[in-house]
Amino acid sequence: MKKIDIAQLTIQKAHDAMKSGDFTAVDLATVYLENIKKLDSEIHAYLEVFTDVIEQAEAADARFKDGTATLLTGIPCAVKDNILIRGRISSCASKMLEKYVATYDATAISKLRAEGVVFIGRTNMDEFAMGGSTENSAFGVTKNPHDVSRVPGGTSGGSAAAIAANMALISLGSDTGGSIRQPSAFCGVVGLKPTYGSVSRYGLTAAVSSLDQIGPITRTVADAEILFNAIRGKDVMDGTTISETTYGEKSASKNAKLTIGIPRAFMKLGGISPAVQDAFAAAELRFKKLGYTIVDVDLPNNAFALPVYYIINFAEVSSNLSRFDGVRYGFHKDGTTGVEDYFESRAEGFGREARRRILLGTYVLSSGYYDAYYNRANALRRLITGDFNTAFKKVDILMTPTAPSPAFKIGEKVSDPVAMYLEDIFTVTANLTGLPAMSIPAGMTQVDATGNPSIPLAVQLTASHGAEKVLFQAGKDFLGE
Ligand code: GLN
Repeated sequence: MKKIDIAQLTIQKAHDAMKSGDFTAVDLATVYLENIKKLDSEIHAYLEVFTDVIEQAEAADARFKDGTATLLTGIPCAVKDNILIRGRISSCASKMLEKYVATYDATAISKLRAEGVVFIGRTNMDEFAMGGSTENSAFGVTKNPHDVSRVPGGTSGGSAAAIAANMALISLGSDTGGSIRQPSAFCGVVGLKPTYGSVSRYGLTAAVSSLDQIGPITRTVADAEILFNAIRGKDVMDGTTISETTYGEKSASKNAKLTIGIPRAFMKLGGISPAVQDAFAAAELRFKKLGYTIVDVDLPNNAFALPVYYIINFAEVSSNLSRFDGVRYGFHKDGTTGVEDYFESRAEGFGREARRRILLGTYVLSSGYYDAYYNRANALRRLITGDFNTAFKKVDILMTPTAPSPAFKIGEKVSDPVAMYLEDIFTVTANLTGLPAMSIPAGMTQVDATGNPSIPLAVQLTASHGAEKVLFQAGKDFLGE
């Protein structure tokens, strides 16, 4: 077997090597499993590493032998714990679903299964995809592989940390308000939140149905593109899915001169840290050198995006999480009456953040406040979307930082929900508008005088609906792929 350099591996390289017999899918899976053994007791990216990984890899090898292998056959993939894999626990990192075993595959999973992808395990997350640091997991925190005193971001922190520490080649996350992009930024990897409706949500445990999307977290943009193309598509099981769009094909051609818009007035509201500011300025310069045109754009209603997002988030969360009543399935605790059973089960089964959002969501949906909060938020959501659509008449891409700061310390924000919510200022708009957005690595912080390790920085690119191709083109240009 040829030596496998997992730090440099891509889907294409792994595929070529397995096809030419340089190594097998079993060899590849073994290298990842060994790395997990070495690193994951500290990082804790995985809630569970599956026991049949080698069997899955053997089945992949058989496909290379009989000529039915595809580009993704034998590729090791980590899966966020809110995406259902038949016969596996899917806990959403909640005590409520600690023992819940999925009875079917999510559509994204069945598509990858058909390609012969090897599922390595399920990754840690903030409970029910609420949070921004993976500290809200009921099963312990995940650490940032670049600096274990820091968070990996969240809510798909386990999936991003698994890629950053080479504990899987590709991974799936979900993004409701930044949960793919922010952990990707904190861990120095690539994360795409696809256009709403391009990837089926069937089998993704619903947090906020009008915002949730499954998407790829990978080391390269090319890998994100391959994985996205494998999981996308219309699905009869999710009525919000859309057919593949062709928009973006023309502007994504190699020689197209793309225009990048920067919402500078909005960015001033973000409380951006100096390191992120420097990385952003350097990214702007790099795009200019690559021949991109940079212009300023105005997104006047973006100032409301964060409160609008959190009102809609709380409202839908309170409704979606009502199914976890401790009776039909999931955690159960006996009270003295039937009604008390509900109270006891929900009070103990859900963590603090989930309970906070259920309470606030119930409040904004209550008859006296429905118009003042929920309806107003939805009206503003339309205005925000309108601003973006206007901007995309002038530009192909919008660029902002992914998050206002690089990865923060474990424990720094977890007891201050507002500080945690402010982290999402640049990511929530893509969910409110349904637009595709991708975080790409943009350098590392300097090692400071106190000897803190250097940690990743990132920028976020947003494109118009269905124009993922534009993001892939710009991302590859930027990273020199
Ligand atoms: N941090 C955001 C929140 O807590 C985003 C979560 C997500 O995308 N799932 O809602």
